[in-house]
Amino acid sequence: MQVQPLDIVVVGGGAFGAASALELAERGHHVTVLDRTASPHPDASSTDISKMIRMDYGADVFYHELAEASLDVWEAWNADWPRALYHPEGFLVLSAREAEPGSFEFESERVLRERGYDPQHFDAEHLRSVWPVWNADRYPEGYVSPRGGWAESGAVVARLLKLGRGAGAGFVAGSFASLLEDGSRVSGVRYVAEDKSVRTLKADRVIVATGAWTPVLLPWLSDVLKPVAQPVVHYGVDDASRWQSPVFPPFAADMAGSGWYGFPALDDGRIKLGHHADGCVVDPEHRGTVSEDHLDLARVFLAESLPELADAPVVGTRVCLYSDSFDGDLWIGEDPERSGLIVAAGGSGHGFKFTPMIGKLVADTIERRENPWLHRFAWRSLAEPRQEAARMQH
Ligand SMILES: Cc1cc2nc3c(=O)[nH]c(=O)nc-3n(C[C@H](O)[C@H](O)[C@H](O)COP(=O)(O)OP(=O)(O)OC[C@H]3O[C@@H](n4cnc5c(N)ncnc54)[C@H](O)[C@@H]3O)c2cc1C
Repeated sequence: MQVQPLDIVVVGGGAFGAASALELAERGHHVTVLDRTASPHPDASSTDISKMIRMDYGADVFYHELAEASLDVWEAWNADWPRALYHPEGFLVLSAREAEPGSFEFESERVLRERGYDPQHFDAEHLRSVWPVWNADRYPEGYVSPRGGWAESGAVVARLLKLGRGAGAGFVAGSFASLLEDGSRVSGVRYVAEDKSVRTLKADRVIVATGAWTPVLLPWLSDVLKPVAQPVVHYGVDDASRWQSPVFPPFAADMAGSGWYGFPALDDGRIKLGHHADGCVVDPEHRGTVSEDHLDLARVFLAESLPELADAPVVGTRVCLYSDSFDGDLWIGEDPERSGLIVAAGGSGHGFKFTPMIGKLVADTIERRENPWLHRFAWRSLAEPRQEAARMQH
């Protein structure tokens, strides 16, 4: 199917916007990315030192398969890029009790086996001998997911934006103000430039890929998409090599029960600890700071599970924003009431790993091509009965 080149504005240069811009420019469209400053923006959810890349999704085979397809591309990017930004170090999944059918750990491992992988199941004794930094008394069993790891997320976005520029995408610094609308048709955007002047960008299609900001900028989505604050803490260690893979691979420690997950140390000694929970709906411009209560809880987790880190100094904190959809599924589709407006958001705390597939999903939406994944992300309303995605964690 031949598609005429379109003028496309992508609002937001995070992972979703950058991946979309690259794919669309490579398909021959005329693409302009609009973000508030030169991307990656420091407040973007994608701009962080690390994100988990895993295909463990409980019994939700759909996301397992999408992650698997994404991993094919992560591996290809590693081979093509000047420096590998995805670190395939596996994913250590610890259970605080014997994993039972229906639990995230049990079902994830079952799906892996059914799909031909060979996750290494272990007991506390094995945990103690192979990964001695863990308090094995707390985790009677677990498994190592063989294909997965973590990605240098901020660097990935910068790389995609650079590739996008190389493929012909332009970049404009400015803050989206409103859509240009011609009846029910969207014909571009109005934005506030860095010199505070209000300007316009005309377009055949507008993609709004503004993550947690999306329901603020497009308020008619505020019942289905919410900006939700989630804390991240960085600890410092003196000897980084003792806290890197294979001794200390990326982990989830009783993910469904406790919410704790974390990453090996960077070479500068920073260890990132995240906590997946319900979080609080916030105004993205007033997201607050990581609370003392949270730091205390994190300290208790470290003392109980990783005792050698019990007194590790906090070297950084960050409140990161989930763009939570009401059902945990990504949100990629055309607004049924505003033709020409495509939204790519709703990462719901687990979207980064799919970055390699996002561009194709968005471009296929625009070009109206069949895509086996899109049905689950399509425009939808609260009234539709939906299954909560097995998002469980990042
Ligand atoms: C604490 C935390 C941990 C996470 N961990 C993981 C993980 O381990 N694995 C995983 O797969 N996913 C994870 N995620 C989810 C993942 O980070 C997101 O799904 C993904 O980064 C979303 O990318 P995005 O491009 O949609 O949004 P963002 O990266 O937030 O990008 C949105 C962009 O829109 C721009 N923008 C906003 N307003 C305007 C405006 N008015 N005008 C112009 N531009 C604007 C912003 O500047 C920003 O650059 C995590 C998220 C959080 C918060």
